[in-house]
Amino acid sequence: VEGVKVVRTRLGEADENGRRRPEIVPGSEEVIPADAVVVAFGFQASPIPWFEGSSIEVCERNLVKAPEHGRFAFQTTNEKIFAGGDMVRGSDLVVTAIYEGRQAAEGMLDYLGV
Ligand SMILES: Cc1cc2nc3c(=O)[nH]c(=O)nc-3n(C[C@H](O)[C@H](O)[C@H](O)COP(=O)(O)OP(=O)(O)OC[C@H]3O[C@@H](n4cnc5c(N)ncnc54)[C@H](O)[C@@H]3O)c2cc1C
Repeated sequence: VEGVKVVRTRLGEADENGRRRPEIVPGSEEVIPADAVVVAFGFQASPIPWFEGSSIEVCERNLVKAPEHGRFAFQTTNEKIFAGGDMVRGSDLVVTAIYEGRQAAEGMLDYLGV
């Protein structure tokens, strides 16, 4: 690796749906010198080592087992731990993660009997 090639972008004109999409600013290309590149985003689950010691089961795709319609919503195989979002369903959307977080909170309240 010698560097990372980047370009500047700006929002273009709105299309028929009113959405403005990014477009490349002509002549803005440049190379930022680099010895190494770390790709810091990803789409795969990586279970945390303490899952095993806490009896938190994962499926073959390494996603945490926490069913929405289990005994308590989004309860994991450790009855005191609840989970939702990408670590449960895989890559998805922010709105889904928010929804599941709220449902998990409901599951916790039901579990606590409040
Ligand atoms: C490149 C990219 C683009 C995306 N674009 C969109 C988009 O345009 N619209 C959309 O709706 N969704 C988009 N998504 C998906 C969206 O980001 C996720 O679905 C959403 O963020 C999932 O929320 P989450 O709370 O489940 O997980 P995350 O947002 O991943 O939150 C998990 C958090 O846990 C933290 N964490 C991890 N391990 C530990 C640990 N051991 N101790 C403490 N904290 C820890 C992480 O740092 C992170 O902050 C995109 C995802 C990616 C990767």
